[in-house]
Amino acid sequence: MVNTSRLIENLITLAASGQTAPWQRPWSGGDSPRNRVTGRKYSGGNVLNLAWAQTLHDYPTSEWMTYKQAAETGAQVRRGEKSQLIEFWKMIPRKDASGDVQIDGAGNPCYRPMLTCFHVFNVAQIDGAEPQQTTLTGPGLDDQAVQAINDLYQRHGITWAAGGDRAYYRPATDEIRLPVSEAFKDGTAYATTALHEAGHWTGAAHRLARDGIVKGTQDNYAFEELVAELTAFIAATELGIGYDPQANGSFEMLNHGAYLAGWSQGNIERLRQAVPAAQKAAKYLIPTETPARVAI
Ligand SMILES: [Zn+2]
Repeated sequence: MVNTSRLIENLITLAASGQTAPWQRPWSGGDSPRNRVTGRKYSGGNVLNLAWAQTLHDYPTSEWMTYKQAAETGAQVRRGEKSQLIEFWKMIPRKDASGDVQIDGAGNPCYRPMLTCFHVFNVAQIDGAEPQQTTLTGPGLDDQAVQAINDLYQRHGITWAAGGDRAYYRPATDEIRLPVSEAFKDGTAYATTALHEAGHWTGAAHRLARDGIVKGTQDNYAFEELVAELTAFIAATELGIGYDPQANGSFEMLNHGAYLAGWSQGNIERLRQAVPAAQKAAKYLIPTETPARVAI
């Protein structure tokens, strides 16, 4: 077993230093809600509404379209699907009684704002409109790292699917969702993301029963994120994925540091408290003693 304590200490020091850049999502593909047909990203309050609806209904994509847009592309909104309301302010030329556009003192036309509403559906609610796969921008994958993760997932019988542009563990169905491996910048990025979600997976009631997963309240959610990220760090180190113990300035190290700094809000004691839980989770994922095979 790799002695990870010094690495963890380095990581905590890094997270506490305030020297980390903002955390970077290690895969490509837009996360913010956008229109499937025009490709335009939604703005203002629409972003929050659509992102919330996507999370609530567990849609695998952040692409939306109107009923009419779906019909025009030969697709069909499924019967009974509910839409989301989005709002735009349009500037309409102000007209006088005779129907002419009013002109202000400087000779410019006068406008008035008009609220326009649209109903949009997520692509996942539409037959004939498959969620688009994320574009391939990575330099290629380190097959060994991807293979190590696939083996680990298989060994534990983890239920998971690839696709969409989000990575998450869903306690209600005990499933993991990851973007396709080709969407990641490299095998290490894929592996650490997959291990982070596997970290959450260990928290289920019938495994290590952590409050962040079992109770899922806002308060212990941040702590659960610290546990999952530290689990990914420890497990990746033990699998020999992506970590050169001499190179503390690696992208992964800095990105783990940034993530932990964000979720701990500078509370380093809280971060330290997450270490034993993460060590337990990593041990669950990678048992040190392999049980002897039973001869039949
Ligand atoms: Zn997480």
